Amino acid sequence: MSCRLAPRAARCLLLFAAGCAAGPSPDAPVQDGRWAIAIHGGAGTIDRGSPKAELDGYRDALGMALAEGRLRLARGDAALDVCEAVVRMLEDDPHFNAGKGAAFDEQGHHTLDASIMDGTTLACGAVAGVRTVRHPITLARRVMTDTPHVLLMGDGAEDFATAAGVERVPNEWFDTEPRRRMLEEVLRERARGGTAAAPRAPTAAVYGTVGCVVRDKNGRLAAATSTGGLTGKRFGRVGDSPIVGAGNYADNRHGAAACTGRGEMAIRAATAYSIVRYMRDGLGLDDALRRAMLDLRDLVDPFAERVNVMNTVAMDRDGNVSAISTAEGTFYVYQTLEMREPVEQPRLCVPLKD
Ligand code: ASP
Repeated sequence: MSCRLAPRAARCLLLFAAGCAAGPSPDAPVQDGRWAIAIHGGAGTIDRGSPKAELDGYRDALGMALAEGRLRLARGDAALDVCEAVVRMLEDDPHFNAGKGAAFDEQGHHTLDASIMDGTTLACGAVAGVRTVRHPITLARRVMTDTPHVLLMGDGAEDFATAAGVERVPNEWFDTEPRRRMLEEVLRERARGGTAAAPRAPTAAVYGTVGCVVRDKNGRLAAATSTGGLTGKRFGRVGDSPIVGAGNYADNRHGAAACTGRGEMAIRAATAYSIVRYMRDGLGLDDALRRAMLDLRDLVDPFAERVNVMNTVAMDRDGNVSAISTAEGTFYVYQTLEMREPVEQPRLCVPLKD
């Protein structure tokens, strides 16, 4: 089922795919020279009714990250390097809920989560609850490459950041005024009757994780996600973005996926892994996405309210790209080399309820 554009479509997701013509391929990696990339800027960062200058700010930010990814892929960079470079750019851009511009937790601080996965080896690295790391995605990659572990959290991750020599910033460096206003709004709504676990806030106020899936010229896939988590989240809460299999997953033999939205849903349904698994089981990319969104319907969630939404970008092993949302009106931008203009509409939509 396709979603129509809603007048106040409010979410920002940008996809870009290039050189990704479909075709049969034997077991990965297939060194066929075709590359592809899909980037998203979150399930709920902007209101489509916002002033044009504001909307252009998001488009430009995503466009620049995309251009960087495109440049690197065209010159033959590895999928993992491209994923990290693109996510680092988005982490530095205050438009997105990752790095600078990260959401505030209920105590008015930032705790950041990120993960990255190598589809060639199924190696992955993740960090949760870091407070002073400018680029959590880089620390996640260092966990993957420099330790025997997959996920480091809190003080341990901070200690590792010191040992790894990655760039540090004070927690306030991540502050932005729009995110502070969102926290105030969430806390106000909570005081009016929302719950601590799921404040009755509009989705636009709480989501904005960044994500990326890539296929390089050598047929290697990678996926990465980075986030400040949910605005007003309980101190210590960890979402899907650093949970490999929930927030992202990559396997050269089948495909890759990156999610944004209410992390609790993606964790419970193992959404990113499910998409790749459904492709492994023989479903095409779009059907795998639809099936994974249908799985979310089975979740019973007393805290759901208006904050339940899931957006996902994914690619199959040949680099064909697709995207899906559970929310009508989600603002997507999708572009391929053949298209002159980005198309701002959901690629696919499976609402959580009929
Ligand atoms: N998925 C993120 C989380 O639950 C939030 C987001 O997508 O913005 O932490």
